[in-house]
Amino acid sequence: MDLSLSPPLYVMAKPAGAACNLRCRYCYYLEKAHLTTSKPHNLTTSQPHTMSDELLRLFIQQYVEAQPQPNVLFTWHGGEPLLRPLAFYRRVVELQAPYLRQGYHIDNCLQTNGTLLDDEWCRFFAEQGWLVGISIDGTEAMHDAYRLSAGGQPTWRQVMHGIELLQQYGVEWNAMAVVHHQNADHPEEFYRFMRSIGCQYLQFAPIVERSLAHPDGRHLASPDEFTDTEGRPLSMTPESVTPQQWGAFLCRLFDEWVHHDVGEVFVELFDCTLANWCGIAPGICTLAEECSHGGVMEWNGDLYSCDHYVFPQYHLGNIRQHTLTEMLYSPRQEQFCRRKHETLPHQCQDCRWLHVCHGECPKNRILRTTDGEPGLNYLCEGYRQFFAHVAPYMDFMKAELEAGRAPANVMNWCQSS
Ligand code: SF4
Ligand code: SF4
Ligand code: SF4
Repeated sequence: MDLSLSPPLYVMAKPAGAACNLRCRYCYYLEKAHLTTSKPHNLTTSQPHTMSDELLRLFIQQYVEAQPQPNVLFTWHGGEPLLRPLAFYRRVVELQAPYLRQGYHIDNCLQTNGTLLDDEWCRFFAEQGWLVGISIDGTEAMHDAYRLSAGGQPTWRQVMHGIELLQQYGVEWNAMAVVHHQNADHPEEFYRFMRSIGCQYLQFAPIVERSLAHPDGRHLASPDEFTDTEGRPLSMTPESVTPQQWGAFLCRLFDEWVHHDVGEVFVELFDCTLANWCGIAPGICTLAEECSHGGVMEWNGDLYSCDHYVFPQYHLGNIRQHTLTEMLYSPRQEQFCRRKHETLPHQCQDCRWLHVCHGECPKNRILRTTDGEPGLNYLCEGYRQFFAHVAPYMDFMKAELEAGRAPANVMNWCQSS
């Protein structure tokens, strides 16, 4: 196939699988360990869930060569990727080096819970120019409500120490905050805290999960499961945000941002909403028309359609048997990407916010519409509230952009109107 015409190919790699030193109560990934314990690929359950050197080499080679352009972004994810020793990431750099000499531009980012960061890690990230994403859910009380160690202890202080170290070494970092039942009612306090620790790039992930016990030990429902074995509807996990909480959280946090910080603090969801408002492809798949050509690669080379679809039925294959290009441009993955748009219920198709929402993530489409049609997003009510609230500001910023002026002028407009 002619790769030069294809969209960039993106894979999130899990070098330590689902292994993690924490036990966050809302974690959707810890239980994925059950999926890879019984997989063949010449591995036994007694072997640790860590990526071998041979697989790492194969992945780096395939990933670089699969890119349509000479720009490559590696994302190291978990579980907790810092459970691999620093030597593993030094080896990553070593294996990437020949491609740099061939003219590729390579970036690396790593998403961590931050509790294992020390001077040595930070020195490495600073020297290599890696971007580090830190999971932090706000103030001590907000964070420690659910983000606990394996022994059930709070973790906020360790994370804050990790952030201080990153800052001390001049490592570029951003925050990934989970919005959950306990912090969603305090958006101003949450946002001001994030500002106070020097966060300039903020991403949110709302918790939307339903409980369902599986025979293999997993406890969360896949997006395709709606009832238990007795046919009863599934209940949301207690950590999940409600649609009303989500809407209020976004509106109130937007108000803080739009009055003070446009152009200074980058809130991914707001940037992407503005992009959609202007008809530009947004940077996040959840607000895009179709799912991205991304995938998740587990420690053993198993590839899945998306980080939120690491379920047996979304297993695309293994890089030892098929290339990343074959799997991520396969008819199956193409269909996975398209179905975000193709399965929109009529309520979404007729919605005035479709051009900015696109029905959000299919993982969250677990409700029925007012007509009883399946496939409505659980967060719909919150998103409708948010889009209606931000519409005048988005219209203004769009007009500024079209006139070649800075969208940050919206802050003056807020004061004068
Ligand atoms: S740090 Fe991440 S992977 Fe680890 S338990 Fe928490 S949410 Fe799960
Ligand atoms: S399923 Fe959701 S998270 Fe995955 S690619 Fe689609 S929109 Fe993104
Ligand atoms: S706001 Fe609700 S109805 Fe409108 S596109 Fe989004 S999910 Fe669908």
